[in-house]
Amino acid sequence: MTDPIRVTVWNEYRHEKKSPEIAAIYPKGIHGAIADYLRDRRGMKVRTATLDEPDHGLTEAVLADTDVLIWWGHTAHEEVKDEIVERVHKRVLDGMGLMALHSAHVSKIFRKLMGTTCELKWREAGEKERLWVIEPSHPIVKGLGEYIELEHTEMYGERFDVPPPDVLVFVSWFEGGEVFRSGCVYYRSRGKVFYFRPGHETYPIYHNPQVLQVIGNAAEWLAPVECPKPIYGNVQPLQKIGEK
Ligand code: ZN
Repeated sequence: MTDPIRVTVWNEYRHEKKSPEIAAIYPKGIHGAIADYLRDRRGMKVRTATLDEPDHGLTEAVLADTDVLIWWGHTAHEEVKDEIVERVHKRVLDGMGLMALHSAHVSKIFRKLMGTTCELKWREAGEKERLWVIEPSHPIVKGLGEYIELEHTEMYGERFDVPPPDVLVFVSWFEGGEVFRSGCVYYRSRGKVFYFRPGHETYPIYHNPQVLQVIGNAAEWLAPVECPKPIYGNVQPLQKIGEK
């Protein structure tokens, strides 16, 4: 049996504390809903962390014990301390997977990993969204059909100011006419990054079985792969150069 994948679900956890409507959708917080689902999948060891904990719940020890970090933030990106962002960034480059959900598109950590503004268009009109699977062989879409349909969502529209994804997994269509690159995979040093769009706090998006399935699949895929650490710098040749 292989070791369980160690997942940490991070949430700024502010909306749920301030708004009874949002708390009714996510009584245990958005992190709680995602963690509950992941705990039901086999092979995962799941913990949660939130902004108001010391070190935002992301101590060196927690990160060292994390294979995949899931990030949800919205109103308090600026409150995330730079030293913690640095710590997370270092771990990603060293192999930890990072999944940025919905409004985490402008989190400090996602912006740092992308190197661009990560801005986009948005509209809150409760419109329909179809997320089309455009890379059907990718492990992230295992078990899905041609698309996921969400009846009521916030719209995110292009242009999304990110670098071209290494793999584009989903493209969204919105009732109001916009499109969006909703599932983007990036490789960063030894780590992998997945941006996944759905998840506005006023809709029960993280109770949708297909959305949760994507999050679970992605957590499995983002886990580090066992491989030798790359060697950098000046090296000796493997054989004598110029020998006939
Ligand atoms: Zn939103």
